[in-house]
Amino acid sequence: MSEVKVKSNKLSTTEDEHIEIEKAYQALCAAVKVKTDPEDQANIQAAYELAVKAHAPQRRKSGEPYIFHPIAVARICAEEIGLGPTAIVAALLHDVVEDTAVSLEDLDEQFGSKITNIVDGLTKLDNAYDAESPQAENFKKVLSTLIDDVRVVLIKMADRLHNMRTLGAMPRHKQLKIASETEFIYAPLAHRLGLYAFKTEFQDLCMKIREPETYHQIAKKLRETKRSREAYIQAFIKPIETHLDEMDIPYRITGRPKSIYSISNKIKNKKVSFEEIYDLFAVRIILDAEPKKEKPACWIAYSSVTDIYHPIPERLKDWITTPKSNGYESLHTTVVGPNGRYVEVQIRSERMDEISEKGFAAHWKYKGVSAQPDVYDRWLGSVRELLENKDSDAIEFLNDFKTNLFSEEVYVYTPKGDMRILPKGATALDFAFDIHTEVGYHCTAIKINNALVRIGYKLRNGDQIEVITNKNQKPNEDWLKIVVTGKARSRIRAAMKEERRKKGELGKEALERKFKNLKVPFDEKNVEKVVEYYKLKSRIDLFYAIAMEEINLQDFSKYFQVENNALILIKITEPLIGSATTDENPAPVARKNKKEIDPSSIVINGQSGDHFKYSLSACCKPVQGDDIFAYMSNNGCKIHRASCPNATQLMANYGYRIMKAEWASSMSNNFVADIVITGVDSGRGVIERISQTISTFLDLNIRSFHIDGNQGFFEGRIKLIVSNKNQLNHAIHALKEMDGIQSVVRVS
Ligand code: MN
Repeated sequence: MSEVKVKSNKLSTTEDEHIEIEKAYQALCAAVKVKTDPEDQANIQAAYELAVKAHAPQRRKSGEPYIFHPIAVARICAEEIGLGPTAIVAALLHDVVEDTAVSLEDLDEQFGSKITNIVDGLTKLDNAYDAESPQAENFKKVLSTLIDDVRVVLIKMADRLHNMRTLGAMPRHKQLKIASETEFIYAPLAHRLGLYAFKTEFQDLCMKIREPETYHQIAKKLRETKRSREAYIQAFIKPIETHLDEMDIPYRITGRPKSIYSISNKIKNKKVSFEEIYDLFAVRIILDAEPKKEKPACWIAYSSVTDIYHPIPERLKDWITTPKSNGYESLHTTVVGPNGRYVEVQIRSERMDEISEKGFAAHWKYKGVSAQPDVYDRWLGSVRELLENKDSDAIEFLNDFKTNLFSEEVYVYTPKGDMRILPKGATALDFAFDIHTEVGYHCTAIKINNALVRIGYKLRNGDQIEVITNKNQKPNEDWLKIVVTGKARSRIRAAMKEERRKKGELGKEALERKFKNLKVPFDEKNVEKVVEYYKLKSRIDLFYAIAMEEINLQDFSKYFQVENNALILIKITEPLIGSATTDENPAPVARKNKKEIDPSSIVINGQSGDHFKYSLSACCKPVQGDDIFAYMSNNGCKIHRASCPNATQLMANYGYRIMKAEWASSMSNNFVADIVITGVDSGRGVIERISQTISTFLDLNIRSFHIDGNQGFFEGRIKLIVSNKNQLNHAIHALKEMDGIQSVVRVS
């Protein structure tokens, strides 16, 4: 990518550099794993020579000749993804069209259309890439190329990985920007494509940039404990080897530490020290069994391990029988090793191991070998479907993508027994839309396994679902909060848009009258000025806002005057409505929260919070103990929960504004937490029982309490005043224990 490159006045490369370049190229050739014929080799050689010549005047930010970059990218493709000659040639040439005089026609003539198309895809991706444009836009572009030729994205991953490995020469703010984009787009994508090794390295490299101190601390501790860890692993696997040797299956065993990123997450999430983490490493047994025998072979190995060490039953995970949705297959167990230490053991075949490391790339090689349905084909199909939905903007698209395509899945059934697959977290209403748009629109009730449930019921594997419809039912705004799938959401949005358009007719007429009074033509140009002034997205939104009396046309002439049949803005004042609740304009609630806390109670980037004008965000209402981050806006600093639904958007668009925030340890303040309770209304005074539990038993205060009943079900919304997360968790737990309560969840 061009951002790491500068043109140098220095004439070409030195003799020493030449030798180094040649060495790098030889190493690349040695790294090619797939069989190549003389023609492939000639092509690779030609691509190398062309790239050397074309990039000759260029150097990277670090000062080294630019050609090292494409060679390194090609080597990653060959060595770490296991790609073949086509991809290697394309990787060597990936920057020539963008940055040198070589044209696509030149490439077509010399290397043919296949290579040219890939390089073209990569060039487009880079040209479309704009460091200033929202990352969500960039992401959409990455995905569009993904469905054309997967190799484009695989080479792009290699390109990104090499750039991340060599980010040291870049200025800090650019490092942060690239790291946040990598963490946000490339790491999850690598995960979804099953490129496990890439995902792990991306995360580690991002952490190294974002939190260098923690990163180096953990790295140091890993080094210090390496010897004793290795001795432990040796002692652990020795008896297993003796057992496995008696079997007639070749195998190998590896034991390696988990990634720094995942160790750091454990320290954070479980609030333990490095020394207290029991599963710092995983032992992997890889069996060289032929496809038909791999599953029994894995279970035989499992049996050997558990003959020696005592297993923890609830940690047994069988992803061989049911692979993960990204194709991952493996058998996991945790056993009690010597000295009572827990050790995770992963058992798999060579094929499964390759798929788990290289995912998508390895998948092709084994197409048809596994009995599993083609997970990637199905997945790519969904990507395509989502991209074709022109209705959603980039941010919506990204959110849909995150929930729908990066997540695991649930398997449910229609009353006739047909299986439907939905993303994990999908609700009964999502299911209704999945069946058919009309079924979704008119859904009034849902039966799961013959019992009525709320339409917001979260689906579980194996549920049998019946949708009850009514012609008079239609979608409403609240439904958007219930559904998670992109399909349902876009259909509801479309219906709402239509509804808004209808309601907006009144507003349109009112504005038309106003224009008539002012004697200004009611044309697109003039109307757009008003739309812009109120910072609205469209004319429909404007008409709707007028119809709903959110905009008062009486003040109209205070802001606009008429000159030559055109509307002219008089003075720039803050619009009365518009995007009033974005983070740029703190909502009133946020200010109220601010008074409730002591500014020194939060530590931002290692400094006391009172250096920053900060407030707790109104959208997710953090309480002490929550995992939080700080977001710098023009109006000071906002504290959000890391799990805040808006976090994705903020990170996507303004990754560089995100700062680390933590709670100072000692404080006694009150926070308002919103919880939603659902259950069966048995007619025994639900409100009274709940409030009694909260006030008498838990000794907490309630700020407000709303309850709605529907078909024997009730849903209660409580604003609870707590002083920290422990207290909140305790309350949630106690409420769950009550009779007739189905769920208690914290919401934002
Ligand atoms: Mn590049």
